[in-house]
Amino acid sequence: MNNPELQRIVDAVRARQRFLVSSHARPDGDSIGSQLAFAYAARALGKDVRIVNRDPASPPLMAFPGVSSIEIADSVSGDFDAAVIMECGDINRPGVAGLDRYFVINIDHHQGNTGYGAINWFEPTAAACGEMVFDLVNALGAPLTREIATHIYLAILTDTGSFHYSSISPRTFEICRQTLDAGVDPVAVARNVYDSNNMGRLKLFGAVLSAMQIDPSGRIAIVYLDHEMARAAGGTYEDTEGLINLPLTVKEIQSVVFFKQNEGEEYRVSMRSKGDIDIAAVARDFGGGGHRNAAGCTVTGPIDALQKTFLDKIEQAIDGRPADR
Ligand code: 5GP
Ligand code: MN
Repeated sequence: MNNPELQRIVDAVRARQRFLVSSHARPDGDSIGSQLAFAYAARALGKDVRIVNRDPASPPLMAFPGVSSIEIADSVSGDFDAAVIMECGDINRPGVAGLDRYFVINIDHHQGNTGYGAINWFEPTAAACGEMVFDLVNALGAPLTREIATHIYLAILTDTGSFHYSSISPRTFEICRQTLDAGVDPVAVARNVYDSNNMGRLKLFGAVLSAMQIDPSGRIAIVYLDHEMARAAGGTYEDTEGLINLPLTVKEIQSVVFFKQNEGEEYRVSMRSKGDIDIAAVARDFGGGGHRNAAGCTVTGPIDALQKTFLDKIEQAIDGRPADR
């Protein structure tokens, strides 16, 4: 193995027994997939593993093996020999208090990871944290069971936006190939993730997309949702998962920004972009982060002013990017 951090993690996992695994608040397919792939592999080696997240997985992810065993809590205590934190650029991303009291193993692919662990394995070129976990499973000598392979495939499928983002590499497909060899059913995974909508969700998509605005240059879509709109449409905030990707299916649209009201004038902002447009840089300007093509942050202010500010920043990101490859 030519990766010293990965080797240190393998040594630490072999030497320890009781593991706590956590990931970011509002976990996505990559967090859930990475956590469970590691948990199954570690258990196959005889380790005790508990997964604790602040928020439950979204309903479409509940169909995957082991997801219902994830514990939901905003603080942790108890005897653990290590806390494995996946998919988190900093120690506050999980929103779970007490993690910093343990021997922290930080496994992540987000640009700007702060190196908060006792061991920090950080690969910004990985298309998903699940790609890294694939290497870890191999390095641990754990078998690539169908459960593990399914979670790795889930992580990659969702974190590449169904194989849309520029983070994809030949390795991404090599890993997916091996997961299919291990028994993954890509049709079943895609159905569970993308084709398990309820009617409220579809109606909510309709309401949000009807109110969508396009900037004067026709390249940026602005979508907005508040509690009142969600209630009127008969959907919930959880139902908006994936909505942000729809405006990008329009050829001319280069970027999407989605404002979701938290409380009063506080908004969760999700952003997406195509190709070389670095939307993570915009998110970092507002204290958030993410990847070049998918990023987010939380902001407070009058919505009209916020929308204008983000439009300006995104326009700069579009116009200032390197020439198309
Ligand atoms: P989403 O828009 O799906 O919530 O997030 C897209 C990507 O941006 C994810 O990889 C997520 O981890 C990252 N991200 C979203 N919000 C934040 C944030 O507030 N802070 C940081 N550091 N990353 C974020
Ligand atoms: Mn990820």
